[in-house]
Amino acid sequence: MGLALGIDFGTSGARAIAINPDRDILAQATCTYDRQLPEVWKTSLFSLFEQLPLDCRQQITRILINGTSATVLFCNGEGEAIAPPLMYNDDRGKAMIPQIQGFAPSDHLVLSATSSLAKLLWGLENLSLDGSIYFLHQADWLASLLHGKLGISDYHNALKLGYDVHNLCYPDWFPSLPDRLTLPKVYTPGEAIAPILPQIAQQFSIPPDCLICAGTTDSIAAFIASGASVPGDGVTSLGSTLVLKLLSETPVNNSQYGIYSHRFGDRWLVGGASNTGGAVLRHFFTDVELETLSNQINPHQKSNLDYYPLLRKGDRFPINDPNLPPRLHPRPADPVEFLHGLLQGIARIETLGYQRLTELGATPLKRLYTAGGGAKSNTWSKLRQTYLSVPFIPSISPLAAYGSACLAQQSS
Ligand code: ADP
Repeated sequence: MGLALGIDFGTSGARAIAINPDRDILAQATCTYDRQLPEVWKTSLFSLFEQLPLDCRQQITRILINGTSATVLFCNGEGEAIAPPLMYNDDRGKAMIPQIQGFAPSDHLVLSATSSLAKLLWGLENLSLDGSIYFLHQADWLASLLHGKLGISDYHNALKLGYDVHNLCYPDWFPSLPDRLTLPKVYTPGEAIAPILPQIAQQFSIPPDCLICAGTTDSIAAFIASGASVPGDGVTSLGSTLVLKLLSETPVNNSQYGIYSHRFGDRWLVGGASNTGGAVLRHFFTDVELETLSNQINPHQKSNLDYYPLLRKGDRFPINDPNLPPRLHPRPADPVEFLHGLLQGIARIETLGYQRLTELGATPLKRLYTAGGGAKSNTWSKLRQTYLSVPFIPSISPLAAYGSACLAQQSS
């Protein structure tokens, strides 16, 4: 077995990581982009290949790309984009929600304004799309540049399109679409699709029998990268918002709390996101202040402050209340005390979040990994540990590209 190459396309750049069968990183490449356009993605993909050392490229036997979940595009039969991509956070699809409510189950993920299905229906109604068209996710399109087939996706990317990940088919309620539109055929993430196109293999000195694998989404790739792998493993992402992911024997889907589950082999990756998180910390402190002030906090001592840190009213998970007010008073004069209250408040919300997932049927949290900017803070980890009472495990890697490489390596 040769090297597996994982490639992550994020919101501001792309990264490639090559690993050996022992999962050691042998080479890395990065590039940034300031425009989200298919031709920029393509140039970036090829630039990543060029940056990898020749002897590394010559040993690659699997390639897998993760894209940003719900970033989609329409293309023609030649694989050329025929309209600018609709990015993950584009909510123009909200105009289609009343239509979707007419056929989709009432609590389904596709009822979100940013779902891939809302974008598909919006595009069909509002973009000029002539002739045969393919609807693809970012990862699908990028992989097609390498294997040369159009109309292939994976069941992680296809979840927000409405694909039924239990029965592995498009559901009965799926709307009828024009015959000239091809929906992606959905593969298991990591499954081999086809060997690399001969001209690409030759151009970059990649072996011609290198297999291109079905992709995944950025957040699932990041979950895999942490090393989390058994039911009860959770990954908390302390980024701008607080995102919890818990590997579970059973799926949990609850639209009230915005909880949904990705299929993860024969297990389920249950996720929930709160509006609290690092954005609130950054509103009050610089990253340097966060580091210096948090070093002065005693994480084993409880703060008397009872905060629910939000920048504006409303949260969905673990408390579903669109009018929930930010609770940030009283504010002590001492910034160390204030920060202590904020970190504790977020830790309590995280704890309540895992409790909520379990209450709704997920496997209870047994071990915890941490990702995102807040993972840097040892004080915060110690403080969180007093609430969560499970072992904290260091992540193998914080990089989604590493997770994609691991998924590629498991490919059959
Ligand atoms: P995102 O990708 O969601 O924008 P990141 O994962 O880059 O976010 O994390 C950024 C957040 O990390 C910031 O909002 C900041 O509050 C938080 N952060 C950075 N350094 C520290 C620190 N030393 N202690 C606690 N939080 C920190």
